[in-house]
Amino acid sequence: MINLKRVVHPVGQGSFYSESFFYMDRNICNVIYDCGSSSNRLSLRNEIDSFSSERKVVDILFISHFDNDHINGIKYMKDQNFKFKNVIIPLINSKDKFIYILKNIGDEDCLALIRNPQSFFGDQTRIIKVSSDSNGQSNRNESIDINVDESNENHLDETTIKNNQAISISNRISKAFWFYIPFNYCEKQREESLRNELNKLENKEINEFINSPNIEAIINLSKNINNIYKKVCETNSSNNASMIIFSGLYIALRTFVLAFYGHCYFSMDEACLYCGDIGLNQKNIIDDITGKLGFSCNHIGLIQVPHHGSKASFSDDIYKINTRCDYFFLSYGNHRYDFPSRKVLLSMVNNHKRLFLINENDVSIFVQEIFLY
Ligand SMILES: [Zn+2]
Repeated sequence: MINLKRVVHPVGQGSFYSESFFYMDRNICNVIYDCGSSSNRLSLRNEIDSFSSERKVVDILFISHFDNDHINGIKYMKDQNFKFKNVIIPLINSKDKFIYILKNIGDEDCLALIRNPQSFFGDQTRIIKVSSDSNGQSNRNESIDINVDESNENHLDETTIKNNQAISISNRISKAFWFYIPFNYCEKQREESLRNELNKLENKEINEFINSPNIEAIINLSKNINNIYKKVCETNSSNNASMIIFSGLYIALRTFVLAFYGHCYFSMDEACLYCGDIGLNQKNIIDDITGKLGFSCNHIGLIQVPHHGSKASFSDDIYKINTRCDYFFLSYGNHRYDFPSRKVLLSMVNNHKRLFLINENDVSIFVQEIFLY
């Protein structure tokens, strides 16, 4: 019997979500979605340390987007000798890369990751980029399979896969026992005033800045770049872009799920939708997800409220993903007075949903044990 432990780690304003698979109590596969915190780096390190005491191999690391609070723990994982086998990131264009570089100025490790993921992780890691080109409905028969018992030495070349291409996990004993489906919505929204400023820049200027080895370049920002930098800081504008991940069974196997939060336990369906910092109020996003996931939506028992509970990214349409889904969670920093917003909390209460709030306090940890038959 395979079982899965899903944890929303208490790291404050950021994200660190893990899924560890076990077969007869032996750890066979580890998957992580984002690793960072802007409010409490110490609790993030503690969580990474306790994860690493039993598990040192990351079979898949998903990065939802390159905001600092979602990636700034990855270098620490590397320093703790984690082995990253596959890293799945959204394919972004040079203008978005440029914005993420502006947002990470001063953090050399994150800049190195954004500039060149392959050289950041090294040649033992396969980088898989998810394009925003749409596919039809996700089809499990066309999934790319990651066999966690095999080394990935034979396919280390950088790969690009289509949006909502299913990724299955197999091992020697079980074929495709779990699936992930990424949705790259990273290009969905860029506020118009920022877009106008970006259009004033030459591609050459953008590329030079992205590749600039010397971060002192910020001091010599041209007037145009300076304007964009101010706008990015003022509006937090790339925050509505993220890669969403569906995590679940693709077919109806029998499952038994127990979730623990505080001193209570709950039972729910096994699939989870990780939303990163996506803006759910963007046109068609919910319809697009539900259309492409099809019947798999019915298995979603847990949904991440995006962007740490920001009201600007929230929409009541979240309940349309699966009207039967009663459980939601969000990660926020204890000292950030504006997160989670009252609008989100009231909406959850009014719609009779249960919202698990995870901050940097150890006791706010959320854990699910999922048993597959
Ligand atoms: Zn964030």
